[in-house]
Amino acid sequence: MTSGNTSTQNERRTGVGQVKEITSLSNPVIKDIRALSLKKNRDRMSSFMAEGLKLIIDALEQGWQIRTLIYSKAAKSNNGVEQAAAKTVALGGLVLEVNDKVLSAITRRDNPQMVCGVFEQRYIELGELHPKKDETYVALDRVRDPGNLGTIIRTADAAGASGVVLVGDTTDPFSLETIRATMGSIFAVPVARTDVDSFLKWHDGHNACLVGTHLAGAVDYRNIDYGERSTILLMGNEQAGLPPALAERCDKLAIIPQSGRADSLNLAVATGVMLFEARRHLLEVQG
Ligand code: SAM
Repeated sequence: MTSGNTSTQNERRTGVGQVKEITSLSNPVIKDIRALSLKKNRDRMSSFMAEGLKLIIDALEQGWQIRTLIYSKAAKSNNGVEQAAAKTVALGGLVLEVNDKVLSAITRRDNPQMVCGVFEQRYIELGELHPKKDETYVALDRVRDPGNLGTIIRTADAAGASGVVLVGDTTDPFSLETIRATMGSIFAVPVARTDVDSFLKWHDGHNACLVGTHLAGAVDYRNIDYGERSTILLMGNEQAGLPPALAERCDKLAIIPQSGRADSLNLAVATGVMLFEARRHLLEVQG
């Protein structure tokens, strides 16, 4: 991130360290943050933005690297904000106090959250994921829709899945829309990206059951023993479904029986149905 000094920026010491007060959209730091709306800039800076104090506190607790914490003037005396700011400074990040105009421009919302953060992107290497019994992974073939991807990451988190593998050319898990849809689960679920060949090699190297989902699937998804070994649920692209090159390598090709007039389920819904069935024997009502 650039850190610039302009006449519209003040620096002052607070209880938590150095805070820059910025009121102008032409400030270079703000320009850099706004540039994160484009994938090429997110990739160049290896950064992404997340909104909301709770989510930022969770991310910091889970060891994500924060680069910039941005909060509205109205939130400055909030305890949580002070703690997040102190942690950001301790980690070498920048803390910005901004007005509503700047916050709206950064988040592209009329009623933005009072706090947002710029974090370093993080992918896990596929080779670091070693499926074990009672673990479930979700693999997504060319997922295109940011809302679907975010919802799937959130659902994978809720179901206790161990990771999400993006196969082929997929939508960016670090876009603002995807991050919003994850509701913070981006910080909890390991995400790997790979191509078809490496994905198949990874599966071949582990004793995991590759369960593809397909409208022409031969097996009812409720008749699979998900407790035998680890499971990799492979979901097809929104428009095209699973290509033969992937479908023919699956250990099982499952279908979720439907009635009614819909041709298929939405990808995120189908993933949720599969995840909760695959982990049914492991999930219990708490308390
Ligand atoms: N036109 C696509 C096709 O013919 O496969 C529909 C794709 S569907 C919107 C996206 C993905 O969701 C599918 O590739 C599959 O992984 C999953 N899916 C949706 N409905 C399903 C069902 N009833 N049974 C199994 N998988 C399903």
